[in-house]
Amino acid sequence: MKQNKISDYLENVKTIGMGGHIRPDGDCVGSCMGLYTYLKHQYSDIKVDLYLEPIPDKFKFLKYSDEIKNSYDGDKEYDLFISLDSSDIDRLGEFEPYFNNAKKTLCIDHHISNTEFAMDNIVFPKASSASEVVYTLLDEDKVDYDVACALYLGIIHDSGVFKYSNTSAATMTIAGKLMEKGIPFTNIIDNTFYTKTYVQNQILGRALLESVLFYDGKCIFSVVKKSEFDFYNITNKDLDGIVEQLRITKGVECAIFLYEVGELEYKVSLRSNEIVDVSAIATYFGGGGHIRAAGFNMKGTVYDVINNISEQIEKQLG
Ligand code: 5GP
Ligand code: MN
Repeated sequence: MKQNKISDYLENVKTIGMGGHIRPDGDCVGSCMGLYTYLKHQYSDIKVDLYLEPIPDKFKFLKYSDEIKNSYDGDKEYDLFISLDSSDIDRLGEFEPYFNNAKKTLCIDHHISNTEFAMDNIVFPKASSASEVVYTLLDEDKVDYDVACALYLGIIHDSGVFKYSNTSAATMTIAGKLMEKGIPFTNIIDNTFYTKTYVQNQILGRALLESVLFYDGKCIFSVVKKSEFDFYNITNKDLDGIVEQLRITKGVECAIFLYEVGELEYKVSLRSNEIVDVSAIATYFGGGGHIRAAGFNMKGTVYDVINNISEQIEKQLG
């Protein structure tokens, strides 16, 4: 089967709206900025607007990141709206009306839980990242330095710098081709993935110190409460990497990380190592994700939330 290219979706298109998921992460920003930059450079007659919630400062080295529109910009009808790295329409947040009002819609994603909510859906659950999917839609010769920086950023974030099980030979080949564009890959990896601020290290340390092993050491959970957000003066953007550190605790199959988002309401991140399909659990509770990494929101006390999730984990572990 011939793989479609982005050019196949641009016939008679003069205006494009683009968006990614709420609380944009590295792959969301990388895939959006990569495609945005490619369209700007290769299709200068098309007007493109990119909508995302405010992105972490560490991603602002990307060219044109200052052009991202952070809030709803009045009603508009785009010829085409492209959704990236979003498994369902709700993930577009406040920008969903631009999707609904567009003449044509295209969804580019890699979540196994994707609901194929657009007119055209390019969803590759085996791809490491939405950024990897974007790369396959582009003309390789036209991928320039700025596009390459963005897509490389997305790939390293969703693959944990090429170590999660979603990394494939194809991922490495694409990363190699992006490196050939002369990108500062060491800086991208260090500055956006590994470097932590002092308070980020503090909250990581605190979350690990207060983590709880259960189910014979097969599961682990930790929670960051609203009071800790205030005490350390942090936001949810400062919590990256905590669930990953929990996951690699020796003997653990499933890691659960919660942070308080409102009165008796938690954002849940799940990770598994070899057995548990956390995407199925997240989908069951109204969220989504991948087999080894997924998330959702849940109401209740910490005790209720952990109990509900454990029940589903135990069902799978038998
Ligand atoms: P994280 O735990 O890092 O927030 O998310 C892990 C994966 O699950 C990501 O691919 C993310 O897109 C997905 N995910 C996290 N939270 C939600 C959610 O509330 N709804 C859906 N549909 N997916 C989520
Ligand atoms: Mn992604």
